[in-house]
Amino acid sequence: MTTETLVENPAIPVESVMLTPYDPTEFDTNVMGTYGRFPIALERGAGCCVWDTSGREYLDFVAGIATCTLGHAHPALIETVTQQIQTLHHVSNLYYIPVQGELAKWLVEHSCAERVFFCNSGAEANEGAIKLARKYAHTVLEIDKPVILTAQASFHGRTLATITATGQPKYQKHFDPLVPGFCYVPYNDIQAVENAIAEIDEGDQRVAAIMMEPFQGEGGVRPGDREYFQRLRKICDETGILLIMDEVQVGMGRTGTYWGYENLGIEPDIFTSAKGLAGGIPIGAMMCKKFCDVFSPGDHASTFGGNPLACAAALTVAKTLAGEAILQNVQERGEQLRTRLRAIAAKYPHVVAEVRGWGLINGMELLADIDLTSVEVVKAAMDLGLLLVPAGPKVIRFVPPLIVSAQEIERAAQVVEEAMAALAI
Ligand SMILES: *Cc1c(COP(=O)(O)O)cnc(C)c1O
Repeated sequence: MTTETLVENPAIPVESVMLTPYDPTEFDTNVMGTYGRFPIALERGAGCCVWDTSGREYLDFVAGIATCTLGHAHPALIETVTQQIQTLHHVSNLYYIPVQGELAKWLVEHSCAERVFFCNSGAEANEGAIKLARKYAHTVLEIDKPVILTAQASFHGRTLATITATGQPKYQKHFDPLVPGFCYVPYNDIQAVENAIAEIDEGDQRVAAIMMEPFQGEGGVRPGDREYFQRLRKICDETGILLIMDEVQVGMGRTGTYWGYENLGIEPDIFTSAKGLAGGIPIGAMMCKKFCDVFSPGDHASTFGGNPLACAAALTVAKTLAGEAILQNVQERGEQLRTRLRAIAAKYPHVVAEVRGWGLINGMELLADIDLTSVEVVKAAMDLGLLLVPAGPKVIRFVPPLIVSAQEIERAAQVVEEAMAALAI
């Protein structure tokens, strides 16, 4: 908070820090108002801490929304990105990009995938998966009107096809006509899937793919059910329906395994990754285990996709995760956090409904019938120096960097406890 903490991040000279509250007036007149922002401006970070323009320190349990895998100002990421931008940062896919090939090899060796397509975001990765599924439907299954089943309360992105895939009306309102060919079923309900497949099978129309998150993030921090996903896998194997898993939020280590699907004991045909993949440098990936040859040259592309800068960053994240036993840290710190949050929940049974999660994606759900929302708890925690993010109106989400320490987990839990007390409940 004072100059003493400033020297903790040696990459930032103390003179460059503003030490004044940020005035957002000009920002708001020039930037389109698509976000409801919290009233602070973050200026620098180190590890799991960030500082705002007033010099105030926060423990960061948001990590750029489950993105800054290695925290802030990680020495390995600084070195890679600096070196890569000094060498070559972007050339397009008109040419071979060796580091893109190296990253693809790492992903193929550390997942069920056999081929990778690179892009820049989660929505773009899911668009690629949707296009691949449709081409597969037309050319392999010979379905004229393919339908993709997705889950209610899911989240797949903000492009037109991915808001349509997203089973939440609030993201679709006023953006119709939506993209045809999607249908929604309740999450973790196998009977609903069987019914939908039977109902949709009519004339030229059939289910071609099922797209699901292994763990719902934005839609309320809800783990997939193991038995449900095993049944889904079986249905897909028997019918030729593609199983697509959206791993954008939980892939690349967040659940304590590289991929969320590993927790469910199954392998998808196609899966997507983005948020944590390059530790906060924009990247997306669509990977397939089967039907990798459905796309031919010219079918799909992305100008920035898989550029040297993003791929070098992702490769460094991958090697650091593997080399420094970070997955084990994710499992242990996750267990520690859930234990502490459950103790707090036990003290506030009239406020907290449930604590749930895998690895370092965890949620605390507030009771539906009380007059307290997740954003109010998030604001109270922010006032006490902890950054958290809501997942819907009743769930508070905890997604710290995967390098978080035991002391930082303890400090975060203490703040949550103080926030509960401050809300006088
Ligand atoms: C964040 C998210 C997306 C969208 O990713 P963007 O990079 O914002 O396009 C898609 N699916 C899931 C599961 C996500 O959490």
